[in-house]
Amino acid sequence: MPSQNKIQIQPSCDDVYDPALMSVKAAGERITSMVVPLSDIERVPVREALGRVLAADLKSPVNVPNHTNSAMDGYAVRANDLQQPVLSVIGTAWAGCAFNGTVEKGQCVRIMTGAVMPEGSDTVIVQEQVERNGNTIRFTTGQKPEQHIRHSGEDLTAGSIALTGGERLFPAEIGLVASLGIGELGVVRQPRVAFFSTGDELRSIGEPLALGEIYDSNRYTLHGMLTRAGTNFIDLGVVPDDRNQLRETFVRAASMADVVIASAGASVGDADYVYEVLNEIGQVNFWKIAMKPGRPLSVGKIAGAIFFGLPGNPVSVMVTFYQFVLPALRRLAGEKSASPMRVFARTTKHLKKKPGRTEFLRGVLSHHEDGELTVTSTGDQGSGILSSMSRANCFIILEAESQGAAVGDVVTVEPFSGLI
Ligand code: AMP
Ligand code: MG
Repeated sequence: MPSQNKIQIQPSCDDVYDPALMSVKAAGERITSMVVPLSDIERVPVREALGRVLAADLKSPVNVPNHTNSAMDGYAVRANDLQQPVLSVIGTAWAGCAFNGTVEKGQCVRIMTGAVMPEGSDTVIVQEQVERNGNTIRFTTGQKPEQHIRHSGEDLTAGSIALTGGERLFPAEIGLVASLGIGELGVVRQPRVAFFSTGDELRSIGEPLALGEIYDSNRYTLHGMLTRAGTNFIDLGVVPDDRNQLRETFVRAASMADVVIASAGASVGDADYVYEVLNEIGQVNFWKIAMKPGRPLSVGKIAGAIFFGLPGNPVSVMVTFYQFVLPALRRLAGEKSASPMRVFARTTKHLKKKPGRTEFLRGVLSHHEDGELTVTSTGDQGSGILSSMSRANCFIILEAESQGAAVGDVVTVEPFSGLI
């Protein structure tokens, strides 16, 4: 049983205002300062680099495009001939099969998109503006010199930086690497994460529930978020509220991972031994954060691993993961910029709030024909109501000093960006 003394220093969700609370910003900064980016590099084939973080700047070995070519189907001509009434067609240039010859005064070449511009030509007239009769063409007026061509090196010049180290690689980057003819590249090793749930009341799927027992959902949301975050993780299951099993699990997790995540118990100190075990084997701070949901959070080190003790309530787990764990994982993975996108939207509902803590409400962001964004909170915001996360596509963020918002007020919104 917890001692009286311990209970008094534990955070209570009923606190209205507590000057000892740490701000969301300060907590984020402290976490960032604990994270040393991984420096181990792996060489992987280009397709497998999807979702990974590029280890170092990638220079283009070639000009892209490597030859000046046509951007349209049409005719390659000399700019000096644009006033000529008629030009004669002397051949065809195909993509992948260049015209072997020179375009002289009064001549042109039939050309396809992507074909190398023939020697002597510097302008393309699109086929829709050309009237062809046998081997001669006429074209409409208003053509401009050097139109419809793609210059060699206009996308990238040889030796220039095509992608910067610390960028996460999405499909466009994978295609760009392939366009340079590069088949393999250096990426940062994925962070290793070990995670588990704690609590005597937790049951696994397939087991019947006795009174007061619940199914463990946190390991499933964590599994999903860690997958999307591009980590290499191991699920250590449910650990009962038992001193020895907890100690053994914390030590084992720290020995195999860069980051250890536990949910419930470990953060709240609802059983003395969690607090004691963490004090015994690591340097862990129990923070009360000025936020809702997700107030209690423990953060620290166990051996070489960063430890996050998340709250137990399912919504709090997701909010604290998104606000604190994810930025840490992104920094650890070598990503240089890790700030989520935020936008402004008008709230369609009155949002009640007391000043003193940052609130993360679940909302549905909608775009209207007039270009306006509106956001509607998903109703009941209890930290155990996981369906509110499922219905939402964004967080509505009400800063600590905010006193709520009236219908039509502009509020800050953080879209989920496909991660959760
Ligand atoms: P605790 O932090 O242990 O006080 O837990 C806070 C609340 O979260 C309690 O209602 C727990 O039953 C619930 N909870 C804890 N762990 C989980 C879990 N893994 N899945 C779902 N709910 C949980
Ligand atoms: Mg518990």
